[in-house]
Amino acid sequence: MTSTPRLVAFDLDDTLAPSKTAIDPRMAELLVTLLDRVEVCIISGGQYGQFTAQVIDKLTAASPEALTRLHLMPTCGTQYYRFEGGAWNQVYAQNLTDDEKHRALAAVEGEARRLGYWESETWGPILEDRGSQITFSALGQGAPVSAKAAWDADGVKKNTLREAAQALLPDLEVRSGGSTSVDITRQGIDKAYGMGRLSELTGIPLDDMLFVGDRLDPDGNDYPVKALGVECHAVEGWHDTAAFLDELIPTL
Ligand SMILES: [Mg+2]
Repeated sequence: MTSTPRLVAFDLDDTLAPSKTAIDPRMAELLVTLLDRVEVCIISGGQYGQFTAQVIDKLTAASPEALTRLHLMPTCGTQYYRFEGGAWNQVYAQNLTDDEKHRALAAVEGEARRLGYWESETWGPILEDRGSQITFSALGQGAPVSAKAAWDADGVKKNTLREAAQALLPDLEVRSGGSTSVDITRQGIDKAYGMGRLSELTGIPLDDMLFVGDRLDPDGNDYPVKALGVECHAVEGWHDTAAFLDELIPTL
């Protein structure tokens, strides 16, 4: 990036807010301020409903005009939403076929059971059909952050399950998602895919974008964006992101 970014993209969980949690009022204020200056994208493995609950519902101070500069990319950009005519509209969604879904669900459940990772006490369903993505969440979608952090502190379970499921699904792509989750999509669908689509759709070159995420390590779900060559800033949680925005915003 040779100059200031025209677009700033963020991971959601553990970057803008704790996993599955609404953004803090301070983060909402920073995002509203940022939207007055640049285009903003949020890209996550999560579904659109999580974007609404965690972020959009908290951006009450944003004008409709400012919201037109916010780009939402749920499930790694296989879905795309824009604010048009006073409402959030789905621009596109690329869903898995029924056969792909069936095989993905069977493989990840079978391997989780075989490895002893299929928990009996969970907070909601372990498996979720997100249309364009099948997601395994070891403790269920509603698990508290503390329980999730304790389940697989070193990431070994998640990576072992990812590799085992991938071996059964050579035509699909299996990746580690959030702290306890594994995501299955078509091949080549990751946050780099979403950022590439975003560049096509907005006409903003990748070189003019900045990405902020908490998992830019090679095993992390933000890493593909770094590998794509987009300027990246690594954070450890939303406080870190807020501190970064305090420095970045005056430069824009
Ligand atoms: Mg994250």
